[in-house]
Amino acid sequence: MKVAIYARVSSERQAEKELSIPAQIKAIQQYCQNKGWVIVNEFIEKGKSAKTDDRPEFQKMIALAKRPNRPFDAVVVHKFDRFSRKRDDHVIYKALLNQFGVKVISVTEQTEAETPQDLLLEGMLEVISEFFNANLATEVRKGMTQNAKQGYSNGGTPPYGYRTEHIALGNQKTKAVWVPGPREEVDIVRWIFNQYAYENKGYHKIASELNERKIPSQKGGTWSASTIRAIIYNESYIGRKVWNKQDYQTKGKKWRDRSEWIITENAHPALISKELFDLCQEIAKKRHNGGGETHKPFDAKPVSPFWLRGVMVCDKCGTRMVGNSASTRTKSGGQKYYTCGGYLRKGKEYCSYVGWRKERVEELVTNKLRTALLRLSMDNNLLEEIRLYHNDKNKHFIAQQSNLEAEISFLKKKVQAIEADIQSGRGKPYHQEMLDEMNQELQMKIAEYEALAQGITAVNVPEEYIVSLKYDIQTFISLLDDEVVNPQMLHQLAGKFISKLFIQRETKKMYLTLLFKIDDTILYEKTIVADW
Ligand SMILES: [Zn+2]
Repeated sequence: MKVAIYARVSSERQAEKELSIPAQIKAIQQYCQNKGWVIVNEFIEKGKSAKTDDRPEFQKMIALAKRPNRPFDAVVVHKFDRFSRKRDDHVIYKALLNQFGVKVISVTEQTEAETPQDLLLEGMLEVISEFFNANLATEVRKGMTQNAKQGYSNGGTPPYGYRTEHIALGNQKTKAVWVPGPREEVDIVRWIFNQYAYENKGYHKIASELNERKIPSQKGGTWSASTIRAIIYNESYIGRKVWNKQDYQTKGKKWRDRSEWIITENAHPALISKELFDLCQEIAKKRHNGGGETHKPFDAKPVSPFWLRGVMVCDKCGTRMVGNSASTRTKSGGQKYYTCGGYLRKGKEYCSYVGWRKERVEELVTNKLRTALLRLSMDNNLLEEIRLYHNDKNKHFIAQQSNLEAEISFLKKKVQAIEADIQSGRGKPYHQEMLDEMNQELQMKIAEYEALAQGITAVNVPEEYIVSLKYDIQTFISLLDDEVVNPQMLHQLAGKFISKLFIQRETKKMYLTLLFKIDDTILYEKTIVADW
């Protein structure tokens, strides 16, 4: 095993009763030698740095440990408390390193799993998450409010006719802003408002005309009266950004008073004039007896608490799972389940039903997701994980490519030799035919080689994408840990980042696949397997 050693004197007072650094190192070296381990790195806090809390060597060690190609598998210390002055801290660091696959071994203390501190470690990662996220939740909310005040987007899909653009602000920060989308969409938005204002057309009529013209809606499907209504009432189209409408303390069920909303004018380019918008609001008021006030939830549909609906699929038939509550008259009355949508719609012949308990599924997903996301959100891990993913993916391409290279150069030499023979008159009658065949094969190999080269994707991730992805991940983590569950936002983020989720009935294992992509390019994909 390759190991790194870490040594320091924790404080002046302790220095008197503890082993000096040279003595510590000697003890560690002896220990490693006995075990047959190779010391590849030494991190020694010397002089001043041994007495402060900055500990540059320690930081270096952690940074190196987190790298996918780290040179060591374990860190050996003289005593566990060499790690950190505070006992709590050292447990956290140990758990962190553990997460990266690096063990921490003490020369003087037992490291087997039966020691109390190792048992403590078992549940430690969850605790770390909480520790990080207690701050994160409030920080994220603060940041969102600030964003909204400046007219920036807080994520989420922009309305039809707009696209999100990330702008760099320097110092590695980017902000999302809404910009007008493709000309056709912008024209459709204007057409809708005009039809409503001047052509005396209602929501239904406008929707069906758009459908007749085969114009795809935002999600690519057909238009409905409610999508048109949402557009007519949407203040975004006059450049206004409204945030803080919903009260998250009530799981988004309660709408705040308009005085509490954060309203920013000219947050993004308007697509229609204020006059046209106001005219539409007047008409709407008349037509709907004063109902349907701007930005009030018309549908007032209760938010589904099943935030993994549509994300989780049935392991047998692949149909999306839907939320389902057991009848209150049965024994399991009121229990909530994720159930195969195919079974519910088409019956037992289609798929033999299985329901997974909602609470348990969500708890398991939350725990696994939190750990994975937390790991990605730390320092430069995200970018490194993306690189690692691409290297792995490219590895077999590169191997194939080098095989082809060898074959191509072999064929080329062969072809040259035969050509030389023919030219010099030494050629045999069948040589011309052979040459044609070889040339054909050569062309095929070259084409194959070029196709492969295209498959090898260089990781070129725009910095602002990483920043916004990181922001989404942090939001996700804080939502997962929020005491007040916000199924609406969780559902949105789960749909964005979880590409596959199912529980296999036979093995009782849960498979959760995390996926990040820009447009159609997969940046990162990872499947987490957990016991149900
Ligand atoms: Zn099914």
